[in-house]
Amino acid sequence: MNLDDATARCLACNSPLWAAEIQAGRLACFRCEGRASEQLHAIRGTFKRLDTVDGHTKVRGGGTSGPTGSKEPPIPARLAVLNATGPGGVVAQLQSGIEDSWRKTLGWSMAATRSHRDIDGVTTFLINNLPWACEKYPEIADDLEAISSIHGTLTGMETGERGPRKFTAYCSTDDCHGEMRITLWTARATCPTCRTDYDKAGLGTLVTEYDKAAA
Ligand SMILES: [Zn+2]
Ligand SMILES: [Zn+2]
Repeated sequence: MNLDDATARCLACNSPLWAAEIQAGRLACFRCEGRASEQLHAIRGTFKRLDTVDGHTKVRGGGTSGPTGSKEPPIPARLAVLNATGPGGVVAQLQSGIEDSWRKTLGWSMAATRSHRDIDGVTTFLINNLPWACEKYPEIADDLEAISSIHGTLTGMETGERGPRKFTAYCSTDDCHGEMRITLWTARATCPTCRTDYDKAGLGTLVTEYDKAAA
């Protein structure tokens, strides 16, 4: 089996597996497992933020305007959030698309259909069983891709709607025309041209595209 072992690759990212990973008989590498675990944690957190703030409070209010009325996301974006956090959304995708198959392969009984808000339940199951899946589940590559895709979609919804707006700040070093894309919450940034580091206070002193527009 040594020949096979020498060319063993992670089913998900196609990197050559390390000796320890081959010895453990893994199908996916530790790095892919770690990334998927982080993504599942992030999915849980993002889902909850979208579910409470955007998906329900604002939309359910029928668009009544308050002091924050003008910050409401556009309707298609709000619908996308409702779809993701509602019935048939992310929880259903994770359960019917991944959890059910893992349970079948493990020979475990199926879980009852989860509430569309049971993001804790489904992500906990997946996180707890991810090490097994990365070691032994033949379809792991598809599932890691699905997790990554859901993670990307939710993150995009959050940054697209509620995330801070990015703008350009101009490096203040003499004769440097470097530009940095920052937000009001950026803690630090490095000029791509002269490599000057700016902390939050330093960034606050820079000329921005808003200043130029106002000039
Ligand atoms: Zn990998
Ligand atoms: Zn610079």
